[in-house]
Amino acid sequence: MGKTTGFMEYARAENPYREAKERLKDFSDLHTALSEPLRHCQASRCMNCGVPFCQSDFGCPLHNLIPEWNDLLYQGQEKAALERLLQTAPFPEFTGRVCPALCEKACNLADDGVTNRDNELYLIETGFEKGWIQPRIPAFRAGKRTAVVGSGPAGLAAADLLNRMGHAVTVIEKADRPGGLLMYGIPNMKLPKGIVTRRIRLMEAEGVSFLLNTEADPEMLNAYDAVVLCGGAKKPRGLQVEHADAQGVHFAVEYLTEATKSVLSGMAPAVSAQGKHVVVVGGGDTGNDCVGTALRQHCASVTQLEMMPAAPEKRAPGNPWPEWPRTLRTDYGQMEAMAVQGGDPRIYETTVQAIRVNDKNEIVSLTAVRLTKNQEGRLVPIPDTEKTLPCELLLIAAGFVGCEDATLSRLALQSDARGRLLPPDGSHHLGGKLFSAGDMRTGQSLVVRALADGRAAAMEAHRFLGQKNGF
Ligand SMILES: Cc1cc2nc3c(=O)[nH]c(=O)nc-3n(C[C@H](O)[C@H](O)[C@H](O)COP(=O)(O)OP(=O)(O)OC[C@H]3O[C@@H](n4cnc5c(N)ncnc54)[C@H](O)[C@@H]3O)c2cc1C
Ligand code: SF4
Repeated sequence: MGKTTGFMEYARAENPYREAKERLKDFSDLHTALSEPLRHCQASRCMNCGVPFCQSDFGCPLHNLIPEWNDLLYQGQEKAALERLLQTAPFPEFTGRVCPALCEKACNLADDGVTNRDNELYLIETGFEKGWIQPRIPAFRAGKRTAVVGSGPAGLAAADLLNRMGHAVTVIEKADRPGGLLMYGIPNMKLPKGIVTRRIRLMEAEGVSFLLNTEADPEMLNAYDAVVLCGGAKKPRGLQVEHADAQGVHFAVEYLTEATKSVLSGMAPAVSAQGKHVVVVGGGDTGNDCVGTALRQHCASVTQLEMMPAAPEKRAPGNPWPEWPRTLRTDYGQMEAMAVQGGDPRIYETTVQAIRVNDKNEIVSLTAVRLTKNQEGRLVPIPDTEKTLPCELLLIAAGFVGCEDATLSRLALQSDARGRLLPPDGSHHLGGKLFSAGDMRTGQSLVVRALADGRAAAMEAHRFLGQKNGF
């Protein structure tokens, strides 16, 4: 299997980014694609490993059959490769764009791993282009009614599998558009929203119903034989600083949602960075999306504050291959800030100490302070390191602490101490006809993990419905 010398003949080549200053002019896809022959070369780099860690628990949570479809792709058998990919991957057009590619870091080629994510994207987009992706309407209907609450990746994956197994599926979504964080969270340049809508249309053609602008409640859910709750974990961690509720202070997902709504409607965004000095609290991926979005909205400047020290350039001894490397990553937004502002927007070991507002309660500046660990290991401010930063838009991307309170109280459910609906036995079954999946069950995670979790919950719900039927 595979071209055993491919990895020696060809260097790893990812789908190239569009040039930073060019891509900042729009919210379109960050990347361009490699040509077909170059894609075949990349697939040929997948060798005949004895143990393919890429598809193990260290790698892909969906356990995608990576060496098999890479080999078929290398041989130019795109259709067969896509069929093999679709055996385990429900929506490769999402993971092919936004997955951090856990598999590539677990690859036997280590830092030079095979470009599985780009290969996967090429296969699914080729499938759509050539008309190989058609609605797969179940031949048999089992006569059971199921509901999925939430249409993020977990909900879509659960709905897709329940439908394929012959159950009638209604997805109940409180937002005006389906997709969860795929629609309102991850920015358009990482995942163009037409890609999300294309999948929803396909699922509708396959028989899945979507009820939008609808908040699920226990009475409504009574009508179904099984219910999978996939409401996400978007309760944000706030800032414990006076004036944190001032005008111009927003949580990241709220800001990113408005930015996407503006891209889709062509109207000015309800919250805009235009002409403003922007400070983002949180040096992670969500913070990076805020940086990229603020730059596209023509902010005056953008700075990202991170409480923790910068990660090391190379793996620490306690973080060996094939584990995910906890090393310094510079993402697209930070690269763009470097191109425009001439330096890394991230300031490490620093937080917001005070917010200043004008007489209209609008934020005008903030005091940032450097942090260090005290003897108990707690982060504390270092005296005399305060610095004033101009700031008319403060975006809080400091992480998430679990399911939203409104969702829990409406569904009359209680989370565990970490804000999750995680059954004590580690399963997906909350009791009765209720199941949970995705971020709502595990806490904030990744699209690929939400997909795997949604599928696992659908399987448990399917077994439950079978037992009820006596088969
Ligand atoms: C800004 C941002 C960027 C991210 N980027 C990436 C990335 O690049 N790659 C990656 O792998 N992961 C990324 N993630 C994480 C990833 O998006 C999540 O882990 C994933 O979306 C979780 O899926 P989910 O289906 O569990 O929940 P969600 O996507 O949060 O969807 C939950 C849905 O449930 C709906 N809902 C909630 N309560 C109710 C109710 N009572 N009734 C009806 N509907 C309800 C919500 O409106 C929402 O649509 C990002 C997260 C954020 C915040
Ligand atoms: S879903 Fe992610 S981890 Fe799995 S094969 Fe694709 S890129 Fe790799």
